[in-house]
Amino acid sequence: MNYNKKTVEDIEVAGKKVLVRCDFNVPLKDGVITDDKRIVGALPTIKYLMEKGAKIILCSHLGRPKGEFNPAFSLAPVAVRLSELLGKEVVLAKDVIGEDAKAKAATLCDGDIMLIENVRFHKEETSKDKEELRSFAKELASMAEVFVNDAFGTAHRAQASTAVVAEFLPAVCGYLIQKEVKIMGDALNAPAKPFVAILGGAKVSDKIGVINNLIEKVDTLVIGGGMAYTFLRALGNPIGTSICEEDKLDLANELMAKAKEKGVNFLLPVDNTIGREYKEDTVFMSIYSDAIPDGWMGLDIGPKTQEMFAKSLIGAGTIVWNGPMGVSEWENFASGTETVAKAVAESGAITIIGGGDSAAAVEKLGYADKMTHVSTGGGASLEFLEGLELPGIACLMDKE
Ligand code: AMP
Repeated sequence: MNYNKKTVEDIEVAGKKVLVRCDFNVPLKDGVITDDKRIVGALPTIKYLMEKGAKIILCSHLGRPKGEFNPAFSLAPVAVRLSELLGKEVVLAKDVIGEDAKAKAATLCDGDIMLIENVRFHKEETSKDKEELRSFAKELASMAEVFVNDAFGTAHRAQASTAVVAEFLPAVCGYLIQKEVKIMGDALNAPAKPFVAILGGAKVSDKIGVINNLIEKVDTLVIGGGMAYTFLRALGNPIGTSICEEDKLDLANELMAKAKEKGVNFLLPVDNTIGREYKEDTVFMSIYSDAIPDGWMGLDIGPKTQEMFAKSLIGAGTIVWNGPMGVSEWENFASGTETVAKAVAESGAITIIGGGDSAAAVEKLGYADKMTHVSTGGGASLEFLEGLELPGIACLMDKE
């Protein structure tokens, strides 16, 4: 797939109505935004469009309303926060493609900004029916002359406002998508070597595509988290009650054989922090990977493994990390993820953190600023690393 896409700078926007798909899917508690990172992430594109005198129409989804208006999922708090951050009023339309949105869009002056309501107030936004998707996308497009996609977090979805709208308008990417694609694309296509990937998280099945694609490119593949136990089991280790996908044992063996054939240094935990039960306050201890007793489960990588994984990062040119090394939400099982986060941050390599849990861990630990890039999209960055085509990016105009 060609990721060399036209950006906001490659199209005339002055005086034009520009529909911008943002990812304003922010966490809310009692109607208050608890983390505005996603709003802040959209500012460079919005500010550029303001400076150029575009008439800006922002849109986004927020949560999962069931295809109808629901005040709990209104973008009103986003409009307020955005106004504060920009120091300029952001007008919120009462609807998405209704009378209010259209009337407000029609009266925008150059540099004005409006936000339409949550696109998921219409079930057509995420419809499986192509015609429904197209007709809703066409209505969205009818308010504007240019489409800018800057929502990396939903770029792996072929929804009306994330991709289909590009059928009706000249479409380019914003700065956020441009940055995500550039950094992750360079890592995959021309990585500074040695290239190390660290994969963790609960299940092998969620990461098969990523492992398959990365095996072709990396020098070292580090596997931690719950998914490590399927590999350890496939190698004949006792794993007690650790999370394991029995139906993926053959696949695990195939992946390890492929890694060997490609000369990839494939690292699995040599020891583990195990617990009696899947509970935050369960009793725990460390044990070697070939000796996990019955009735115990691996909930984190052990101290020797932490040291080994950290060592494998020394001298790396590029590091990609996706997925925690253990149940890092629980203090007693967080040290594997913490040690790896620290080692990645201090590696001096080009460091890319896939979104989701590993991004959250890196932020919580205060290492986000030390990383080259913390992706804003969990699912999207995973699909990107799998080498899949992201519909929200594929739909944009190619650079000549
Ligand atoms: P993922 O969304 O696939 O990146 O998985 C993240 C989840 O994996 C987190 O909620 C962790 O609690 C969970 N996880 C990590 N290690 C383990 C483990 N050893 N056993 C069970 N769950 C785990």
